[in-house]
Amino acid sequence: MPELPEIEVTRRGIAPHLVGRTIAAVTVREPRLRWRVPGSVRSLAGRKVRAVARRGKYLLLDCGDGHLILHLGMSGSLRFVAPGTIPGKHDHVDLVVGDRGGGAPGRTTRILRLRDPRRFGAVLWTAKPPAEHALLRHLGIEPLSRAFDAGRLHALTRAGRLQIKPFLMDGRRIVGIGNIYASESLFLASIHPRTRASRLSMQRCARLVGAVKDTLRTAIRAGGSSLRDFVGSDSARGHFQVRAWVYGREGEDCRRCGAQIRRMVQGQRATFYCPGCQR
Ligand SMILES: [Zn+2]
Repeated sequence: MPELPEIEVTRRGIAPHLVGRTIAAVTVREPRLRWRVPGSVRSLAGRKVRAVARRGKYLLLDCGDGHLILHLGMSGSLRFVAPGTIPGKHDHVDLVVGDRGGGAPGRTTRILRLRDPRRFGAVLWTAKPPAEHALLRHLGIEPLSRAFDAGRLHALTRAGRLQIKPFLMDGRRIVGIGNIYASESLFLASIHPRTRASRLSMQRCARLVGAVKDTLRTAIRAGGSSLRDFVGSDSARGHFQVRAWVYGREGEDCRRCGAQIRRMVQGQRATFYCPGCQR
């Protein structure tokens, strides 16, 4: 499943080829994604893309009087292909990208193609501010924003009885910290995944905030080296190869203290941790 770093790398990869350009046409070959692709997305034709933003795992194409909301679901990917490239079975939606010229849609320069074999992705249009959209309204704080700091995490964790690992993964509190990144961040911050969130001191909150940001930024950097894949490549993009400290390493030696990495299940998700480093 594409996680926040993959979405952010996708954003950085596609933005230079979209911003300032006119959408010449929208082709929907299969509207049955997670939600039906509305006919209104065709009204993008003739509009200029002003910016490509990200909120959680949603990509937002700012078209001035509305936003195209894209979500990659379980298996979605976006890439540019040359005009005339024959779509594959799972290539459900195309944004035909025109020139940078103003006014009428100009010459087609390339096509932004959504491939989504499992069809859990989304392509939606909203004329309202995207933050008010039903899918985005309840999203938690962005972990890479300045606003996500020790004080904010400390305040967020005071109420409730959740353990810190499921807390980190709850998108209504903080968006985009998937299972791998939650395990890795807790290791870096030397915090046991079962620690009750409300018990974390301000100092440990500060360590955890730093660890979350480091973990996500490292993954984004690892993915950044594959930016060229967004243009003209037909290769499927896998997960970023980030060297894990604990994730997927049950029974192996901790690279910091030598203890054996353990696995447990929390909220139906596998958690990996080092019993030596995380107390
Ligand atoms: Zn250790």
